[in-house]
Formats: sequence, structure tokens, C-alpha cells
Amino acid sequence: MKTDDLVEPQKVEIVYETEEPIRYEVIDNVAWLTMSRTGFNNAQNGQMTYALDDAFDRAVKDDAVKVIVLGGEGKHFSAGHDIGTPGRDLHHEFDKRLMLPGHTNKPGAELLYTREQEQYLGMCRRWRDVPKPTIAMVQGACIAGGLMLAWVCDLIVASEDAFFQDPVNPLMGIPGVEYFAHAYELPPRVAKEFLLLGERMSAQRAEQFGMVNRVVPRDKLRETAAAIAAKLAGQGRLGNWLTKQAVNHVEELRGKRAAMDAVFHMHHFAHAQNDLVTGNSIAGVSGKSAASENKKQAGDA
Ligand code: ZN
Repeated sequence: MKTDDLVEPQKVEIVYETEEPIRYEVIDNVAWLTMSRTGFNNAQNGQMTYALDDAFDRAVKDDAVKVIVLGGEGKHFSAGHDIGTPGRDLHHEFDKRLMLPGHTNKPGAELLYTREQEQYLGMCRRWRDVPKPTIAMVQGACIAGGLMLAWVCDLIVASEDAFFQDPVNPLMGIPGVEYFAHAYELPPRVAKEFLLLGERMSAQRAEQFGMVNRVVPRDKLRETAAAIAAKLAGQGRLGNWLTKQAVNHVEELRGKRAAMDAVFHMHHFAHAQNDLVTGNSIAGVSGKSAASENKKQAGDA
């Protein structure tokens, strides 16, 4: 086989537990995007990612929508990327939203590289740059892939029980999730601690570094997000757009995009190394094993 030869896509059975992994509603000029895979703590499969992209697109194109709020139904915001539910759809081909070819017929490391350029890095950058203010509303766990969704939003409102964690280095030997904003969201030494140790960071501690904007009791989470959204919705559309763009531009001048591109390649080198050594790009970690390791670390198992 030549390294460039295409392969037969893997046939893996996928069982979706819902047809609507993202709920969409507009109330008083605010679009509420709600992740709804509560049975799996809102783990993100491709079905959910593409539904989320549709929801952002719909909210952006609807002139009646002035602000977008992204939340998760149930106990947790998001447990991260889907690495083991019956709806895991790694080998399913969705119509690419960026100008990229299909991934499922690509050999070796090219498969995951193509998929993650689209579904993780590319999508997150699209959502971060939408021309309307966005607010993440975070409760419970916000782990790995969950961080990416919170970080692409302009503001983050968290409940007191929220925690943030990227355990992929301790679990898989990978330097953080695909959208590498860690060292922009946190001071460098704290980012190193966060990544090297992979421990939970409480909402209160995250607030100290400016990673979240407000920490409120769980029963005040929605009304706090709604109040901020209402204020923004009452302001000028273009002003809100230009203002968020101004800060995003400063982040670009500080090298955010270039740094993220560089680390994305380290991320994929680590995936490839896992595949070479263990035969699995995420070192055989499953949703279950990650959860039990996590519990052990948190001292509640
Ligand atoms: Zn990855």
C-alpha cells in the first residue's frame, strides 16, 4: 500500500439516542442553544457538532436574534468529546462545512487530522468569530471538549458547582484539546499546571484568572445569563460586533491563531504516536475509563 492510497471507510454501527442533540429557541431576541444529550452528560459526537453549527448559523442569519447563549441541559455542561457512547460517529461522513475533503476514506493519521481540522479546530474558530455576542452558561463538568465550547464564547457565566478540566495529557499523552486556547485563557504557569496535572479547576478559581465572568448559585445561572443577554440585546448590533472583534483582533496580534496552529500539530503528532505504540489514537481511553480515572483523582472514588 502507498501512503497516499485511499482506504475503505470503517463500518461502525451508530445508535443515536436522540434526533435533536441541540435544542434551539429564541426568546426576546436571544437565541438559546442547548446541548441535549443528557444521558451522556452532553458528550459531543459529530451529530451534535453539526447540529450546533446549524444552530449558530441560524442564529447569525436571523436578524431578530441579537445575542446567543450556549448551555447544556442536565447536571453537566459537557463531559467533552464523545469517546465511547453508542452514538459515537467518528467514522460517519458529514457534509464538510469548511473546504475540506471527506475524512473516513483517508489512511493512517490523515483520517483524524482531516476530521479534527473540520469538527474541532475549524468549527470552534467559526463559532468564536460569529458577529453577535455569545455567552456560555456553564454548570457542573466542563471537561476537555467542553472547554472548547465555553472558550469560543465571548462571556462565560458559571454556577458555583461548575468545574473546568483538561485531563488529556495525563490520560492520553496529548498536550490539551484541539482548540488550544489554554495559555490565552490562563496565565502561563497556571496553564501549565492545568495541562500537566489535568486536575479540576473550580469556577471560583477560574474567576480569579478572568477565565469566567460571573460565578453564581446554580439556581441563579439562567437568570444571570438572561440578564446579561438582555442588556446586550438592547444595544446596537454593529457596535456589539465591532467590540468583540476588537478584542479578538488583539488576541490574534498576541499570536493566538499561530500558536493554536502549532499546537494542533503537536496534538496530532501525539495522536499518531498513540496509534503507533498502542494501536489506538487516544491510547485506548474510553469514556468509562476516563470517568473512573477522573473520580480517583478528585478523591471521590
Ligand atoms: Zn484530537
